[in-house]
Amino acid sequence: MHHFHYKNQELFCEGISVAEIARKVGTPFYLYSHQTLIDHFRKIKTAFAPVDPLICFAMKANGNLAVMRTLIREGAGVDIVSGGELRKALKAGADPQKICYASVGKTESEITLALKSNILFFNVESIAELCEINRIAKKLNKKARVALRLNPDVNAVTHAAITTGTLKNKFGIDLATAKNILLSRDRYSNLVINGLHIHIGSQITTSAPFLRALKKVLIFKRSLDAKGIKVEYLDIGGGMAADYVEGTAQPADKIAKALVPLLKKIGLKVIMEPGRFIVANAGVFVTKVLYLKDNGVKKFLIVDGAMNDLIRPSLYDSFHEILPVSRSASKKITVDVVGPVCESGDYLGKDRKLPALAPGSLIAVLTTGAYGYAMSSNYNARCRSAEVMVSKNKFSVVKDREAFVDLVRGEHIPGFIK
Ligand SMILES: *Cc1c(COP(=O)(O)O)cnc(C)c1O
Repeated sequence: MHHFHYKNQELFCEGISVAEIARKVGTPFYLYSHQTLIDHFRKIKTAFAPVDPLICFAMKANGNLAVMRTLIREGAGVDIVSGGELRKALKAGADPQKICYASVGKTESEITLALKSNILFFNVESIAELCEINRIAKKLNKKARVALRLNPDVNAVTHAAITTGTLKNKFGIDLATAKNILLSRDRYSNLVINGLHIHIGSQITTSAPFLRALKKVLIFKRSLDAKGIKVEYLDIGGGMAADYVEGTAQPADKIAKALVPLLKKIGLKVIMEPGRFIVANAGVFVTKVLYLKDNGVKKFLIVDGAMNDLIRPSLYDSFHEILPVSRSASKKITVDVVGPVCESGDYLGKDRKLPALAPGSLIAVLTTGAYGYAMSSNYNARCRSAEVMVSKNKFSVVKDREAFVDLVRGEHIPGFIK
């Protein structure tokens, strides 16, 4: 599944020892395997080949330029959610005609930038937004291509914070409203409304929720056909699960097998927006043991990485496997792996069986390539970690570790404070 494995009890990423990289770049850092990124992209591409989808990588999962460039070289487009992401995608070399843009709150300057960049389409989430894009497109004398983000009102059966396709969520347009928009789409003089979009959530481990949503889309599409309304695209969003624990997520080819017949029936040009599935397994977070603490009730392995670097355990109670970078035969103890941040919620793993690692030992937190660095912060005035990419037996720092200047950049003490 990925290219992190032990050689003589030492963890390697592709052809390089993780400890060797740590010696050169310091800790903590995110480490990405170039080949794993490619393998996962190709897995989706191959599995869904019968409908020949445009695969737009959801860069909010990992917006590193080197990660994006790797996927763009493989033919990927990019799914963006802000003007900042648009600029990064273009800088990484994305073809604007392979960029789609979803967000419930696009601003005038973001819409303007996207129109001037000639992106493939906007995934629009409300009538107010349609009117705004139409107004701005008119001003620029442009036509904006638009897909309507449908809210199919299905539960993605995942963590509540990452389910997006029910009417209790802020996302998408209910089906009745969407149909009315399409029936009167001529009133939007500067819009070409020719696509449907769904994205029902993230870390969806089986095909069932996707099937439920697509069945609703099929019925919706048939009701459009009956009125003679043609659309061109169906963007089925992202959400395919990564294997945080090996074997827990249905593989891509199984999911494709379930969805392809329905996608063929719907008969539109398919676009996909996978994020997590492509990058999660391609990254690990490497951090160094500072102290082992035993308070008589619990043992804590205190490491130099923390919730500001990887917030998923604190935020979603998510599980990431933790491995020692150097394996030993020494007896295992049960520890909570925690960081230095001043919050009880600052942990990377709870009740883990690990060797009694000495200060200076390294551990790797697995499956952290998605929503890892992307969600990091400077909380507790901690510099963001470095990001490193390995290809075969070469490695390169693809984002510098932050320094003190980054922590105070743009801050000013005004003259009225004595
Ligand atoms: C977050 C998001 C994705 C990617 O979700 P994953 O679960 O990472 O695949 C795709 N499309 C949209 C609109 C999103 O908001």
